[in-house]
Amino acid sequence: MKKVFWENPYAWQLNTVVVAVQDNSIVLEGTIAYSFAGGQESDRAWINGLSILDSRREGVIIFYTLDLGHGLLPGAEVVMTIDWPRRYRLMRLHFAAELILELVTQKYALEKVGAHIAETKARIDFLWTQNIKTLFDDLLADYETIIRADRLIETGFSNIETQRRFWKIDGFAEVPCGGTHVRSTAEVGFVSLKREHPGKSIERIEIRLLDPAAGLIA
Ligand SMILES: [Zn+2]
Repeated sequence: MKKVFWENPYAWQLNTVVVAVQDNSIVLEGTIAYSFAGGQESDRAWINGLSILDSRREGVIIFYTLDLGHGLLPGAEVVMTIDWPRRYRLMRLHFAAELILELVTQKYALEKVGAHIAETKARIDFLWTQNIKTLFDDLLADYETIIRADRLIETGFSNIETQRRFWKIDGFAEVPCGGTHVRSTAEVGFVSLKREHPGKSIERIEIRLLDPAAGLIA
């Protein structure tokens, strides 16, 4: 299965072929619809206009669930489309979270215990007994320097067989990650940070884009 969402994360439409059908689950030759992994939520997507209700990963294969009665057969040529504005926000928030996490790791060595990237906000949880808000000014200053510098974000396979991926900013960090990323840091944009305290010794940073509509043609 060709994961086109990795080689071209900006693709919002794809002509592809059905290769297998199991009741209401189908497998495609190529796909642009990201399925939940690494904390990044799944895309909202369609096949020939039919809503993808759910998806699951088995090894390197993604199974997409449609309504029963979808009528698709192996060999059928289909058009897959995704909700691009949603995906673009997910990509920007994903990388914003990656930058904040990397800065916290490099500067304070806090242990990450959870992360989630939704369309309206991302969050990262750390094991810490102090108020993490005390770090925000410093974090945002470093974060904004990287955004303004518009650094190139490289992505690639660290292991093609197991489809392990990474992202890299030269001279800053190289991190294992199988998500979908924007081309450079200016596209990520500025963010606001909010502290939450979901549990004992758990400090949460919530991240929101200051301009969620940026880069989307009205
Ligand atoms: Zn990631």
